This record gives sequence, structure tokens and C-alpha cells, in this order.
Amino acid sequence: MASLDLIDVVKFYGELEVLHGVDLHVDDGEFVVLVGPSGCGKSTLLRMIAGLETISFGDVRIGDTIVNDLQPKARDIAMVFQNYALYPHMKVRDNMAFSLKLSRRSRTEIDAMVDHAAGILDLGHLLDRYPRELSGGQRQRVAMGRAIVRDPAVFLFDEPLSNLDAKLRVQMRAEIKALHQRLKATTVYVTHDQIEAMTMADRIVVMRDGYVEQVGTPLDLYDQPANVFVAGFIGSPS
Ligand code: ADP
Ligand code: MG
Repeated sequence: MASLDLIDVVKFYGELEVLHGVDLHVDDGEFVVLVGPSGCGKSTLLRMIAGLETISFGDVRIGDTIVNDLQPKARDIAMVFQNYALYPHMKVRDNMAFSLKLSRRSRTEIDAMVDHAAGILDLGHLLDRYPRELSGGQRQRVAMGRAIVRDPAVFLFDEPLSNLDAKLRVQMRAEIKALHQRLKATTVYVTHDQIEAMTMADRIVVMRDGYVEQVGTPLDLYDQPANVFVAGFIGSPS
């Protein structure tokens, strides 16, 4: 496990500066929710932490290591997206084992790791199915299974529930929180759903236009919003 730090992180896409010097500290084991309007830079920030996007200026640190120049697979991070990104031609078992096969592990060891992760997420009975044979909620659980199988220090979620219907969303929130209680991985969870943010977060980070507007517990932000933007964003219904 490890803490996560962003230190004065700037991102340019060509001439366009989309993040203007973001500082953020996430404690070891903390569940931080990142909210803000579409286009404010949430996904870009996560992708830079994961190593899927270069950092223009500043540092990303995991524990004591500056990871700016590390390849994604060397970062001890797992990311879960809204569109699952499962391999359609692979069974659940092989989807979950895929990232392990890139490392030097025996078949027996990989099977044990997959079975362990499947047990945590109650996926044992689905291991021999293909993604097309699963419901939306099951697919999202497989995507989480694929993320936890390597036992990463840091979890990143990018609007993981936005493709699910309202009822399933409520259920999956609870599952993700239960998973976090169990694994205690350092987590950054992006959503544009205020209810999700208020109910899931240890602390909420409110972003606007590539800046961090305020960081605080759900109660802090509700009771003492720094400005009208935060008040409007936190207070408005999803
Ligand atoms: P969010 O996830 O908060 O909706 P994004 O991080 O996706 O926001 O986008 C932040 C800004 O960066 C937006 O203005 C978006 O148009 C721009 N952007 C995102 N990805 C790219 C890219 N690959 N090339 C150029 N501009 C991009
Ligand atoms: Mg996004």
C-alpha cells in the first residue's frame, strides 16, 4: 500500500493547457472522490497517474517513488473505466488473468490469484463465461476483478457506474465501498454524480477548468463550501 501525491502537475495538449498546477495528497488507504463538470480535467488527471498520458510539468509520486517516467505496468496501479474494456473473445478467467500473464508467473500461481480475486467479488461461478454472457453489473464486477487481481497499491476509477441503471448503481456503490473496506487500497474515484461523491468519499476534491477548487470531507464541503461554485455543485441533485 502507498500514499499518492500530485505535485504542481500541469498538462498541455498541444497549445491547450488543461491542468494548471494541481496539488493533491491522498493518504495510504484513503478513498478520495474527484468531482467536477465535464471537461474540467478529471480523466486527464487519472490517466496521468496511471501513466497513460504524459505529464507536461510537475511530479506524480506513489509512496516515495516519483513515477513520471515509469511505464503504466510498472506503476502498481489498476484503473477501472466506465466501458469495462473486457476482451470479448476471452472468458472471464482469461480476462482476469491477462495482466498476470505479462509477468513471469506459473500457471498454477496465476490460477490461484484469479480464484482469490474471484472469491472476493463473488465471480467464481462466472469464470468460464464470455463477457457477452454477462449482465452490465457482472461485467463491471469482472472489470474490478481484473483490477484487484494484481493487488495494486493504488486504484483509479473513472466514472465506473455511469453506464448502469439507477438501481444497480446504488448496489455497485456499496460493493465498491465494501471492496475498499476489505482491501484498503489507496483510491481515486471520479464521478459527476454528487450523491456518489457524498456517500462514498473520505474526502472530496472539487475541480473546475483544470484547477482544484476545494478539498474536504463531504461534511466540510456541505457545511462550508469555499465558494458559490462548490456550493452549487455539491448541493445540486444528480
Ligand atoms: P473530464 O474527464 O473532466 O470530462 P477530460 O480530462 O476528459 O475532462 O478533458 C479535459 C480537457 O482536455 C477538455 O477540454 C478536453 O477536451 C481536453 N482533452 C482531453 N483529452 C484530450 C486529447 N487527447 N487531446 C486534446 N485535448 C484533450
Ligand atoms: Mg472524463
